Amino acid sequence: MSRVFVGLGSNLHQPARQLQRAFGELAEIPGTSLEARSSLYVSQPMGPADQPDYLNAVARLETVLEPLALLDRLQAIETLHQRRRERHWGPRTLDLDLLLYDDLVMDSPRLRIPHPGMGERDFVLEPLLEIGGDIEIPGRGRAADLLAQCRVRTARRIDE
Ligand code: ADP
Ligand code: MG
Repeated sequence: MSRVFVGLGSNLHQPARQLQRAFGELAEIPGTSLEARSSLYVSQPMGPADQPDYLNAVARLETVLEPLALLDRLQAIETLHQRRRERHWGPRTLDLDLLLYDDLVMDSPRLRIPHPGMGERDFVLEPLLEIGGDIEIPGRGRAADLLAQCRVRTARRIDE
């Protein structure tokens, strides 16, 4: 079994409902169990500002799937949510990012682990710290140290 963290994000079509549904779908992936889910966090968009605020969260999974097989499953869930890829960092119904897979480091065209950018994003690090504790991000450092170094901090935990 491998321990995996997945980042969830949405800023279209009732983001809270998109994320709640996605947690259920993550729990249904074969060979995989949903071990923990963070609170929801609201944050301002990265990149283009002419789009709604984001809701983000992190899930912790245990899985027997290999990284690329798990990515296939995550992308299938995005497709179920009518995810369309239009512009870079543009609005989306659901984004599922494979953040961490045990202490694996990999860099292939389809999959980079740890997820690039996660170490600079408060809306990833805050929910990660909530459910993962101050874990080590391979090649980057500890989650709490990385959060303390974030230049932009807009993420706020919301009560559900
Ligand atoms: P972003 O999340 O950066 O806004 P997308 O969700 O559209 O962008 O993902 C673009 C591509 O990133 C996907 O086709 C996928 O193959 C690739 N990718 C590379 N590493 C990862 C990862 N760790 N998790 C999810 N997708 C990844
Ligand atoms: Mg993505």
